Amino acid sequence: MIYLDHAATTRTAPEAVEAMLPYLTDYYGNAGGIYTLANDSRKAVSRARQTIAETLGAEPNEIYFTAGGTESDNWAVIAAYEACRHKGNHIITSKIEHHAVLRACEYLEKRGAEVTYLDVDENGIVDPERLDRAIRPDTVLISVMYANNEIGTIQPVREIGEIAAARGILFHTDAVQAYGQMPIRVGEDHIDLLSASAHKFNGPKGIGFLYISRNAKIGSFLHGGQQERGRRAGTENVPAIVGMEAAAQRACRIMEQKTAKEIQLRDYLIGRILREIPGSRLNGHPTQRLAGNINISFPSVEGESVLIMLDMRGICASGGSACTTGAVGPSHVLRAIGLPEELAKGAVRLTLGEENTMEEMDAVADALAEIVDRIRTLRL
Ligand code: PLP
Repeated sequence: MIYLDHAATTRTAPEAVEAMLPYLTDYYGNAGGIYTLANDSRKAVSRARQTIAETLGAEPNEIYFTAGGTESDNWAVIAAYEACRHKGNHIITSKIEHHAVLRACEYLEKRGAEVTYLDVDENGIVDPERLDRAIRPDTVLISVMYANNEIGTIQPVREIGEIAAARGILFHTDAVQAYGQMPIRVGEDHIDLLSASAHKFNGPKGIGFLYISRNAKIGSFLHGGQQERGRRAGTENVPAIVGMEAAAQRACRIMEQKTAKEIQLRDYLIGRILREIPGSRLNGHPTQRLAGNINISFPSVEGESVLIMLDMRGICASGGSACTTGAVGPSHVLRAIGLPEELAKGAVRLTLGEENTMEEMDAVADALAEIVDRIRTLRL
């Protein structure tokens, strides 16, 4: 098998599994208890909070554990809006956000919010000047993702953060695809709220966090017990939190080396595809993109057919984001960068990870050339 769907999810790192095991077997205490067994869990949670905070240049009490990227995005967008509702009802986001942000905005629109969905350029970049011009006296939140899950485009987050800070507007960034893949400092980027999800950086599924700057006074999202300093109710998922900590440490440790390797593999595979498959087109920015992201369109070919034929050869890839698999119609991201429907439907996303090799890139390039040629011939 050749796994090229790391943007959808990643293999849980052995270090993460090893770190989790004792908390599934021996240290199973509820972190809220008063006895020693509970204390072991509590200590593990607070150590993980410290570790995660350090990776971002944040304080431990600014990290809140959640059930993943979707919850973090929903919490950030909905609670930030509610907290600032007395100041205004306008939100600015982009047309290429993940559905976890877009659907949360749509939910708020039904409750009186006005949302500006910013256009992006042909590479999928949000123009900070355009964003600045979209700000109104009643703007209370800006939510722009760090890096896109489909085309890998990395946004000018620092410039956006500076604009938001200068105007006194809360800035949320969905860093689910970026955290653990590139260095992020919340202070330097003027980020008030940041979402991340462990399964994207070799941690377990169903766990993530929301960074909430101490200056962002937003309310809780889940209501119940006093966990997470009363801001996120629910018994702490201690094994997953510990697994995410180990994965985060590992991701930071190997980041430089992993990025360099992925860029080399990525550019090699992109080069071969563009040279060898007539009409193929790279979607997203040529350089301002995640190290492991390749998104290519093949005219006169359905992306879906390519994926099925790749799967028959043991190659895992996807068309758009994992969450849009099975959805009909071209992806909202590819539409937003102005791709004609035919090219959007012919898009294939290949996302690399540290385990991929040059031999695999050659095998994938060969397979793609053959598959695209075959589909085109059969159609003629
Ligand atoms: N945001 C982005 C950019 C993503 O890529 C994803 C997952 O694909 C999510 C949010 C949702 O994260 P989770 O699967 O942890 O809910």
